[in-house]
Amino acid sequence: MKIKLITIGNELLSGFTVDTNATWIGQELGKIGLSVSSRLTIGDNSNEIIKLLEDSINEDVLIVTGGLGPTHDDITTSAFFKYFNDTPEFSEEYWQYLTERFKKITSKVPNLNRNQALSSTKGEMIPNPVGSARGLHYKTDTCHYFALPGVPKEMKAMMTETILPFLKEKSSTELIIRTLRTTGIPESALAEQVQDIIEKYSNITVAFLPQLIGVDIRLTGHSSKEVETIQSSLEQRLGKLLFGYENDTLEDVVGRLLNEKGLTLSTAESCTGGLLSHRITNSPGSSTYFKGGVISYSNEVKMNILEVEEDTLERVGAVSEQTAIEMAEGVQKLLKSDMGVSITGIAGPDGGSAEKPVGLVYIGFVYNHESYAKKFQFIRDRKGNKYLSSQAALNMIRLNLSK
Ligand code: AMP
Ligand code: MG
Repeated sequence: MKIKLITIGNELLSGFTVDTNATWIGQELGKIGLSVSSRLTIGDNSNEIIKLLEDSINEDVLIVTGGLGPTHDDITTSAFFKYFNDTPEFSEEYWQYLTERFKKITSKVPNLNRNQALSSTKGEMIPNPVGSARGLHYKTDTCHYFALPGVPKEMKAMMTETILPFLKEKSSTELIIRTLRTTGIPESALAEQVQDIIEKYSNITVAFLPQLIGVDIRLTGHSSKEVETIQSSLEQRLGKLLFGYENDTLEDVVGRLLNEKGLTLSTAESCTGGLLSHRITNSPGSSTYFKGGVISYSNEVKMNILEVEEDTLERVGAVSEQTAIEMAEGVQKLLKSDMGVSITGIAGPDGGSAEKPVGLVYIGFVYNHESYAKKFQFIRDRKGNKYLSSQAALNMIRLNLSK
């Protein structure tokens, strides 16, 4: 659970008041197994508060203290109302309560306190057992926002009575889900490789989710620490079999690596008919690293555009290691890219032979004057073999870039 803490008050910035709220909240969260992930102090400034709320959308919990008083410099409540587009209503009931409360201290409740009777219509008011300013609680799809008074005694009472129990319950029922994405290894082989690690963590549910292009490992647990520990053990064991997390696609990962290294890529595709290029261009921003591709479906195009030797095609055929290498080299030279990748194979269902069965695919790769091709044997239908070919090509690029 990511918790951000913001303490508000000009007196905190000027150093006149020591920020004891922040240290107390940090300690109390620690007692229930939670921690503040970031913390900030700002002045009593509406625009600053709104900007901070805008910047906090990726937090799970935001706790704000300070600025809930009745005076002109207490603007946290109005900033919250504004940010959440709230139209607060005057609560006669709460005003009555305040009137009674003040009777015990002075004779009449000051009119200045009327704004403390304003109740949110979009969020919830947090009761204040020891003071007049109630707190606020707003909830979006991803984040809980709390605003509390700065007066330490009031803040502590409200944290203890409302917020800490709320967070405690939320953290113990919260599920932490992490997905590790692998490619290039079948489910059973993958499970075998990590079996001993999984057995060590009985509190974590581990699911293997096989798909055509790879196997995802999904970790589910209640303790983020435990999930992180098993995750790092798995990361170590899996090495380069692991290509990403959550919704990462292989094409996105390859794109990021190419961008990081400032390299460009071009493709020469035969049996995939442009599928590899299609997938590469599914990633936004691919124009920075993808130069283009040649769909060299016929031998004519392989020879005339990519300069594959006629002799090579006659000697070893279009689906061969040598043709794949010459295709990759040809497109790298033609499109002046740093890397060239090629795919040539038999997608099926026809066209196979004993020597070159359906699903046989060669993927060629060239970078830095080094070129080679790898042989793959897929066993799917035409579309499946095409997709697996594009996956294997992307994976070859990834492995080269993460050497
Ligand atoms: P406020 O709710 O901002 O009006 O704060 C009321 C009083 O609480 C201030 O005058 C401070 O003395 C005290 N206070 C506010 N924020 C903090 C804090 N972060 N740590 C300690 N005391 C604070
Ligand atoms: Mg203040």
